[in-house]
Amino acid sequence: RTGPEWLGVNKLVAGYGAEPVLHGISLKVRQGEMVALLGANGAGKSTLMRALAGLHPVQAGGVHLDGQALEKMPAEAIVRQGLVLVPEGRQVFPELSVQDNIRLGAFLCPADRETRLEEMFERFPRLRERRHQRAGLLSGGEQQMLAVARGLMSRPRVLLLDEPSLGLAPKIIDELFAALDQLRRENMTIVLVDQMAALALSLADRAYVIEGGRVMAEGTAREIAASPELADAYLGAS
Ligand code: ATP
Repeated sequence: RTGPEWLGVNKLVAGYGAEPVLHGISLKVRQGEMVALLGANGAGKSTLMRALAGLHPVQAGGVHLDGQALEKMPAEAIVRQGLVLVPEGRQVFPELSVQDNIRLGAFLCPADRETRLEEMFERFPRLRERRHQRAGLLSGGEQQMLAVARGLMSRPRVLLLDEPSLGLAPKIIDELFAALDQLRRENMTIVLVDQMAALALSLADRAYVIEGGRVMAEGTAREIAASPELADAYLGAS
C-alpha cells in the first residue's frame, strides 16, 4: 500500500488543563492503509483519537485529511470531511432499537438512510436478526458491531477505531476482526487502537508505538511484531 499520504498528524499537542498528554505526535496514513496504534494504558491513544475527531481540543499542531486542515473544525464538520471515530466503550443508546442506533449514523445523509441501513445488515447479519431489539440487550460484541455499523453509515473515508475488542470474548473478537479485514480489503483507511496487539498487527500494514504521549517507534506491522523490545512490552498480553 504505497498511495500518497492521506491523513497526516503533525506535531499534535493536546491534554487536560495545562498538562499536555500528547507531546507532539506525528503520524502519516496512506489511503487504503490500516495503521495500528499500540501503547500501554495511559499512553494517550484515546486522547489522540478524540482529538483527531474534534472531540478533544488541539492545543498545537495540525491534522489534515486529503489536504484539508481539520484541527480547528467542530466534530460534525470533521465527520462531513469523512473522518469518523468509533469510540472506546461503544456508546450505544441502550433504550433505542438496534436499527434506530444505526440510523443515527446517517445524520448527514437522511435521504440515503434506509438503503445504507440495509447495507449494514448485509455486512453484519447478526444485527439484522436483532434489528428491533433494544441495543442494551445485545452482547458486548454485537454492540461493538453496532457501533462500527453506525460509524459506517456516513460512508467515511477514514475510520478510527478505539479499542474495539475491549471486554469481548475471543470468538466474537475473531468475528469482529474478520469484519475489519473485510473493510480493509474494500480499501477503507483505518486507524486501529487495540490491546490485542498481535491481532491488530496481523491485520495492519503499519504501526506506531506510543509511549507517554510520544511516538516511540514506527514501522511496518511485520517490523513492529518482530522487534524483541516491543514484543516484551506490548505483545505479551495478547
Ligand atoms: P487507555 O488504553 O487506558 O484508554 P490511552 O493510551 O488511551 O489509555 P488516554 O485515555 O488517552 O490513554 O489517557 C492519557 C492520559 O491522560 C492518562 O495519563 C490519563 O490519566 C489522562 N487523562 C485521560 N482522561 C483524562 C481526563 N478526563 N482528565 C484528566 N486526565 C485525563
